[in-house]
Amino acid sequence: MPELPEVETIVRGLGATVGSRIESIDVLDQRLDLPQDKIAGRTIEAVSRRGKYISIQLSGGGSLIVHLRMSGRLALMRSAAEEKHTRFIIHLEDGGKIYFINPRRLGTAEYSMDGFPHELGVEPLTGDFTARKLHKIVAGSRAPIKPLLMDQRRIAGLGNIYSSEALWRVEIDPRRIANTISEDEAGKLHRAIRSILRQAIENAGTTFGQSVSDYRDAYGDYGKFQEMLAVYGRAGEKCPRCGEGIVRIRQAGRSTYFCPGCQK
Ligand SMILES: [Zn+2]
Repeated sequence: MPELPEVETIVRGLGATVGSRIESIDVLDQRLDLPQDKIAGRTIEAVSRRGKYISIQLSGGGSLIVHLRMSGRLALMRSAAEEKHTRFIIHLEDGGKIYFINPRRLGTAEYSMDGFPHELGVEPLTGDFTARKLHKIVAGSRAPIKPLLMDQRRIAGLGNIYSSEALWRVEIDPRRIANTISEDEAGKLHRAIRSILRQAIENAGTTFGQSVSDYRDAYGDYGKFQEMLAVYGRAGEKCPRCGEGIVRIRQAGRSTYFCPGCQK
């Protein structure tokens, strides 16, 4: 599932369309409720990210807001295999196109007249996300730390991959109850979250496979961060720090990977 670094990479790619006027939008999926008449004729003023959402801001005040969920993709190019999974096509006057490719139809697209309509927590790469803020979030919760880090109402953009990796870096067991995490540990975790997200963005995100459901950037290129993962997707392999076998468990219905040898 695309998380903050993958969505950020796609948003940066879509930046190439800023300033372009939209000629029309073809909505190919009847389940998408998009006002074609309000979108056609508008100019793309900005493309931005909030959490895991992509927001395409249009002249006149409206925005098109897309969430990719498990396997969606917004792209400037598509492969032949992706044609049948394309749910809308934005035709730009300069000849460019933006494709919404959504194989499992889990991704969402909506039109909003009044800004960003979802309530989300702090953006982890902004100045608002401080060590103190993270300590406050963990101190106020009796949930296990990993699902708490993935709670989009607390911190926006972290998912399964980067929360697992950040906890491995600071040697914290993902099952630890959040309010047992000390101020010192919260400080280390804060640094780890920011540094892992930045590294993943520099490496264009994480791609696990090469099917139509796997993440690619706006131009169809794969991410490279999968080569740098320490625990995620590596059950049965040796922990790069202590050599113990990495295990996979279920937490809140999702897979968590960690090292029982060094994460306490
Ligand atoms: Zn270990």
